[in-house]
Amino acid sequence: MDAMDTPDKFRAKGFAPRPAQRGNVRQTTLKDGISCTGRGLHSGAKVGMALLPAEADSGIVFRRTDLAGRGAEIAARWDNVVDTKMCTTIGNAEGVTVGTIEHLLAALAGLRIDNATVEVNGPELPVMDGSAEPFAFLIECAGIQELDAPRRVIEILKPVSVGNDEKSAVLMPGAGSTYSFEIEFASGAIGRQLRAFDMSNGAFRRELASARTFGFREEIDAMHASGLARGGSLANAVVVDGNTVLNPDGLRFRDEFVRHKLLDSLGDMRLAGYQLLGHFHGYRSGHALNIRLLRRLFADDSAWRLVETAGKFTAGESAEARMRAARAIA
Ligand SMILES: [Zn+2]
Repeated sequence: MDAMDTPDKFRAKGFAPRPAQRGNVRQTTLKDGISCTGRGLHSGAKVGMALLPAEADSGIVFRRTDLAGRGAEIAARWDNVVDTKMCTTIGNAEGVTVGTIEHLLAALAGLRIDNATVEVNGPELPVMDGSAEPFAFLIECAGIQELDAPRRVIEILKPVSVGNDEKSAVLMPGAGSTYSFEIEFASGAIGRQLRAFDMSNGAFRRELASARTFGFREEIDAMHASGLARGGSLANAVVVDGNTVLNPDGLRFRDEFVRHKLLDSLGDMRLAGYQLLGHFHGYRSGHALNIRLLRRLFADDSAWRLVETAGKFTAGESAEARMRAARAIA
């Protein structure tokens, strides 16, 4: 991994994304390994990452290749989350951590990869362009392999919610895997945005993957002043100043902000260890509340069960209909 080994390298070499398989019945992994480098958002340091195939039932596991020996592996699971302040960070008992995992997890969830090993040579993943698109592109270049094992998901059996009037997150039963999110910001550049998303029809790539993370200029100035977000720039985030978007090329979608919140939620919910069969709704939620929601879910054995997906994920109520029901609970 010399120089800046970005996904553009693969485009330059004529790699074409292979369309994702549905993976409705069997588990999936990557067909080949693939690697890239980029900058860490917080350290600003160059970091190398490789996505590797993994066996059935191994889930998503991160491996720190800059640390030798025991304790360098961390499963991407809610009970390994050690920090949610600016991004989602997982760690193990030895104090080894990997941060800024949520956009890669969103890409793995969105393209329905059940099993993969993620090697990284530092404490945070590369931020790339602030979206999940470069990760989705890498996964599609590597290709998706079905495994000889039934796919399993976590079925939500009853509504579970966390939060209050100001912000909340809900999981509720539903025939498919659907998400919705609502945000409200004083900034005229964002305002109120509400959007629903259905995992079942390949919409991730089209609707969410390229939506970038965002922040406010005053927050970013303050972070830079205290030595944080050193790798952060207009190249990897939408930056809002008052009622204005500072990025010279503007937004990728009119409602890019709520799309990115959906993307983050998809990544955070992947920390259930499996994909979810049901509906997620977030109202001004973030990583901390999303992880609290998973803790609440797994604290109640009657709220979920692990099921094989054969015959599930059928079309049922629309994501919009579930969103209306979820908003009544939130
Ligand atoms: Zn994000």
